[in-house]
Amino acid sequence: MKHYRCWAEIDLGALERNLGRIRAALPAHVKYVAVVKADAYGHGMPQMATRLMQSGAHLFAVANVYEAAELREIGTGWPILVLGPVLPEEERYLAEYKLIATVSTEDEITRLSERAKTAGEPLPIHLKIDTGMGRLGVWHEEAARMLSLIAATPHLRLEGIYTHFSSADSDPAFTLEQRNRFLRVLDSLPAHGTEHLLVHADNSAGLETFSPDQPVNAVRIGLLQFGCLPYPDSFLSSLRPEPVLSFHARIGIIKTLPAGTPISYGQTHRLERDTRLGVVTAGYGDGIPTTMSNRGAVIIRGKRCPILGRVTMDQTIVDITDLPEANPGDTVTIIGRQAQEHIPVEEFSRWAQCVPWEAFCSITKRVTRLYRTSRVQ
Ligand SMILES: *Cc1c(COP(=O)(O)O)cnc(C)c1O
Repeated sequence: MKHYRCWAEIDLGALERNLGRIRAALPAHVKYVAVVKADAYGHGMPQMATRLMQSGAHLFAVANVYEAAELREIGTGWPILVLGPVLPEEERYLAEYKLIATVSTEDEITRLSERAKTAGEPLPIHLKIDTGMGRLGVWHEEAARMLSLIAATPHLRLEGIYTHFSSADSDPAFTLEQRNRFLRVLDSLPAHGTEHLLVHADNSAGLETFSPDQPVNAVRIGLLQFGCLPYPDSFLSSLRPEPVLSFHARIGIIKTLPAGTPISYGQTHRLERDTRLGVVTAGYGDGIPTTMSNRGAVIIRGKRCPILGRVTMDQTIVDITDLPEANPGDTVTIIGRQAQEHIPVEEFSRWAQCVPWEAFCSITKRVTRLYRTSRVQ
């Protein structure tokens, strides 16, 4: 790795094992919808999707038709669900790339039916139910009306029904309420002609309260397959998911400045002692957010070194006074393991004051992704 200035290592073996662990914890009939939106949470969509296809994923979910088209380039063998709304000018891609659309409104049902008529083939859809997220989906109390409308609308083929939890990682009581609202909608479905439906509610955090007794036959997993827990002390830690991604840079230069010297833009830090500084070859232009300024640390030679002053676009300044053995060119680990020390993405996100999903999505295009396969650990 000595020829990169900033890179992410992505462990395809860990991804495969995580998927295996999640599936093993679920009843065998439950289908695995692999969520690979936003470039597979910054891990690289084509590489992640290709590995997930070989490892037991049944379906893929992405945010929009452009992500879906990119995924479809890999192959035709997997159903692709578009989670987000489809804009009028994007409708034609649904048939072209054989995608499944999510609908929540009458307007979408009318538009897609007309589009499918033009395309000359039925269009597969999933109906989304809003059980308390307040975003996409038909409000659960109006779901029955929407289901009748779909049944009466030609050229559409209802293949699934789903909901999304707003607080699965923070409010189990509200999640239970959302589940119950969803179950009431499922109860209102006619017994015949709905056996084939894919019924799904759980994201990673939802698994915490997943119950095999419910008529849910699929889960939609993003974060957990990348080895990150949706919240600390999660029961899901018993699955022992392995982090898939680690994030690294190098020491560019080393220099010593006297006590009292201000550091970086805005002089938000002043040296308390004569300090040996390492200038790291990564900044917010790579994915170290400015919220990490004067907070958090990186790992060099297996030891934590605190960030001093404001993170800049291309460089971050760290204190290496207690690390006389450090040299220019040394590897700096920003997320992940180095020797005995470890900065999990969960800790990085606390420093960055963001959610782990966002930390992954903030690693920019400038960061080279390197793929490798590790043995079982
Ligand atoms: C992103 C997303 C998921 C995956 O959520 P994780 O918490 O990353 O597992 C599932 N469902 C929907 C609708 C999403 O938008």
